[in-house]
Amino acid sequence: MTKEELIKKYPLVFGNKVERTPYALFGIECGDGWLWLLDKLASYINDILGEKICYIEERDVEKKFYVLQVKEKFGELRFYWQLEGNCPKTFEQISNAVSFAEYLSNFICEECGSINAETRDINGYLMTLCDNCYNIRLLVEDENGN
Ligand SMILES: [Zn+2]
Repeated sequence: MTKEELIKKYPLVFGNKVERTPYALFGIECGDGWLWLLDKLASYINDILGEKICYIEERDVEKKFYVLQVKEKFGELRFYWQLEGNCPKTFEQISNAVSFAEYLSNFICEECGSINAETRDINGYLMTLCDNCYNIRLLVEDENGN
């Protein structure tokens, strides 16, 4: 799956943009290895927004979800978002799911998506990689003279 395919798959999640936010300007800014994790997260958020999973008292409230930024920081996924509409329970549910996905990203290779990954220090820059992708990255760093 590509980033473009992921964005098209979940219009409720990825379709709305706030002008001049990193997401509006640059789209999804992390390695492709995390796309399957983002796919599962977006699927869950989509079900909440699409009312498959919904609190009865919030069923008729109009909700609009915005992604503000998706990136990597200190080897971990960062997923910034906002929700329009007065839906405290929905907000909490999405918050919890996003936090858990960010936590899981610490164990998923950002390059290839393998779950045998850990956060590595590469010349002071933290990245979550599997052994294989880590070794490739070290070779590339060497060739660049670092
Ligand atoms: Zn890998």
